[in-house]
Amino acid sequence: MKILKFGGSSLATFERVHNVVEIIESAVVDGPIAIVVSALGGVTDDLIAASDAAGGGDQYRDEISAIRERHFMVANELVSADEVERIVSSIDGIFEELGKVLHGASLVGECTPRTRDTVLSCGERLSAQLLAAALRRGGVAAEFCDARRLVVTDGAFGNARVDMETTFDRVTKYFAGHHATQVVTGFIAADEHGETTTLGRGGSDYTAALLGAALGADCVEIWTDVDGVMSADPRLVANAFSLPVLSYDELMEMSHFGAKVVYPPTLHPTRTHSIPIVIRNTFNTGFEGTRVMEKVNGNGQQVRGISSIDDVALLRLEGDGMIGVPGIAQRLFGVLARRNISIILISQASSEHSICFAVDPSSVDDAQQQVDSEFELERGAGLIDPVVVETRLSVIAVVGEAMCQIPGIAGKVFGVLGSCGLNVRAIAQGSSELNISLVVSRRDQATAVMAIHDAFFAKSSRIESVRQRIPTAVLGATGSVGQRMVSLLADHPWFEVVEVSASPRSAGRPYRDAVRWFQSAPIPGSIAELEVLPVDADLDARLVLSALDAEVAGEIEERFARTGHLVVSNAKNHRMRDNVPLLIPEVNPDHLELIGSQPYDGGAIITNPNCSTIGLVMALKPLHDAFGLEAVNVVTMQALSGAGLPGVSSIEIIDNLVPFIDGEEEKIESETRKILGRLEQGRITEADIRISAQCNRVAVLDGHTECVSVKLRTPATVDQIIELWEGFRASPQRLELPSAPTRPIIYDRADTSPQPRLHRDAESGMAVTIGRLRTCPLFDFKFVVLSHNTLRGAAKGSLLAAELAVAQRVVKSIEPPQNITD
Ligand code: NAP
Repeated sequence: MKILKFGGSSLATFERVHNVVEIIESAVVDGPIAIVVSALGGVTDDLIAASDAAGGGDQYRDEISAIRERHFMVANELVSADEVERIVSSIDGIFEELGKVLHGASLVGECTPRTRDTVLSCGERLSAQLLAAALRRGGVAAEFCDARRLVVTDGAFGNARVDMETTFDRVTKYFAGHHATQVVTGFIAADEHGETTTLGRGGSDYTAALLGAALGADCVEIWTDVDGVMSADPRLVANAFSLPVLSYDELMEMSHFGAKVVYPPTLHPTRTHSIPIVIRNTFNTGFEGTRVMEKVNGNGQQVRGISSIDDVALLRLEGDGMIGVPGIAQRLFGVLARRNISIILISQASSEHSICFAVDPSSVDDAQQQVDSEFELERGAGLIDPVVVETRLSVIAVVGEAMCQIPGIAGKVFGVLGSCGLNVRAIAQGSSELNISLVVSRRDQATAVMAIHDAFFAKSSRIESVRQRIPTAVLGATGSVGQRMVSLLADHPWFEVVEVSASPRSAGRPYRDAVRWFQSAPIPGSIAELEVLPVDADLDARLVLSALDAEVAGEIEERFARTGHLVVSNAKNHRMRDNVPLLIPEVNPDHLELIGSQPYDGGAIITNPNCSTIGLVMALKPLHDAFGLEAVNVVTMQALSGAGLPGVSSIEIIDNLVPFIDGEEEKIESETRKILGRLEQGRITEADIRISAQCNRVAVLDGHTECVSVKLRTPATVDQIIELWEGFRASPQRLELPSAPTRPIIYDRADTSPQPRLHRDAESGMAVTIGRLRTCPLFDFKFVVLSHNTLRGAAKGSLLAAELAVAQRVVKSIEPPQNITD
């Protein structure tokens, strides 16, 4: 028996749930399994927001109806027709209960922990029912199981403690009588009176571990969105790699210091019953991930991994009156414990003259006040000084079980930091020598982690392969598109950012200070410290990705092409030039041939089309090839991020729509004809299509929606068109380029699809979602297209263009990092 647990990120969209269903379908073939699920991605946060709103007497109904709507959509998409009515009615039942509970909370103006647990439990009860139904539709005999029947806890709502004996007893009895694949709600449980409780945030991992331990499972597989536990935070260390094995203790240490891949309580039942945990990636199913078990063969590896917490505060209590006085530490930590302040690290000099400890910055004021007041008498007598606080620090933990058998590890760590000129503010080492922890300035965190990582892992073959990545520069790296690119390139398998440049306003400053960063992931550590170069600087990188403002892009990009660089541009300046490919890799890869007639010695320019054009042309391409397009009418509703930084002012756009985007309509009309044009004798003959575009700016953050009507040259049917879209594949898919989506076009049959919030991230923002195909009384057909404007429409689209150009060796000086053939 295996237990497979899927987290919310694995269940965030239709495509991801489909993916999970496929994983489960192939797992059942190998033997019995049980499934544990979290709520659909984002639902627990939404339920927390609704309970906060209800408890504060505010409106919560809109949030609840959005969550309800989302589950109905998933049901309509994933559940078979003969079951959908029953599932929808069951979902309705849960929402009715939820409505009553929240109404009660809003009347009393309080959402107690007990009420909150009941509210949160709805997320898992919904997702598990939906997944069980989706599995049945795929032919797997699956049943929904509410874990409140199995997992028994005390009444500590919000973070309940499990009664192991009763739980194990119930689990074994339940599974002895249920032979279908059980889809069990993670995270939720019940106390001895049957009141709903929860196991703490991340508690679904724990549920899976409890089932695994009770049933003596072969392993517990935690399916998440990363390739297992990494040797270091990949945002800090570009060449961090996934660890194939780890011991329970090592994982515990790494999680304590920031590597939050598994919810820590999960380790207790699995370790006690020797059940291995395997951490796997739903988005990379072929990868084996990390196996966590009792004893791990060291293979001579001294250090297993490095983890870090990027923001901590250090407090130091010192004074002559502490020397030789028993009970000081007890009073210090007693007062912190009474305030529930958790301590990340402790260090005491053997002279007993000082004790320092690290806490989360949110507790620092409280900790300082409590400790000062605890030692008020000693302070008055001059025996102990007031607590000294240092903030903006980071803790780095170097972890490995084999460290205790090998002398000199600490020496190597501190030697490396010394040679980088980095100052260590505090050190702690447990007597087990499983972990050496040190505190450095936050500014030095990335450099310190990289230096230690290099010192212990530099010879690994993975690093050698990473070292072969193509040095890449990003121009306009501080802008809306540029920072998307920087974020995407943090762990790009082929390209490594070595230079960034932007306007004179930013040049000369560290990237971290120059950029107004608004991506959800932090700035990649390896790039944060790069100095922003002026755009007239010479670049070492051969590959130049440009996200420059069109005001300046033309001349600068041409200069780099002339000096032998391959330039991939997002700006409009070179798009319509006869010898410049206006490339959508899935649509017109043959246009790369134009580079042969460019006048640059060894360099080249490729351009990425306008962001609305890309979504539109992706949808048009299969129709044009199969039936010929005669006329196209398109009305766009374009997101704010398409306006660059600082964007559109709030006064213009809130409660409003702006029916004008300078130059956009002309770009869509002319670019579409060029991209769909035929390459004949080294020149492009534009497609003979009449196109009319009307463009509007709307208050959506990301994702352009386009309402399109088309007139075809030969007859077609709705079914034929959908089949063409769904089957559309091209060179990037055949070459398996790193940024290529598996399905470039997704047709979504729901009446209300596509929508920016729901569909822009399909296939990591690279799929174009189309919906509402129907006949048109004026033209032949009409439909709605949605694409992510800064991913497919700009940053990631241009990465895909660069990957195709590199794979096809369009410039001699850049070789693809692996052997590729179409
Ligand atoms: P943005 O946010 O305004 O960023 C512009 C970038 O250009 C910034 O890095 C800026 O540097 C730099 N820059 C401005 N003036 C400069 C100068 N005089 N010298 C050197 N660098 C200068 O614009 P964006 O939205 O990222 O768009 C970038 C390009 O992509 C534009 O050509 C745009 O038309 C195109 N595009 C955008 C989208 C989209 O959805 N946003 C889609 C497709 C194509 P500082 O930060 O230092 O000022």
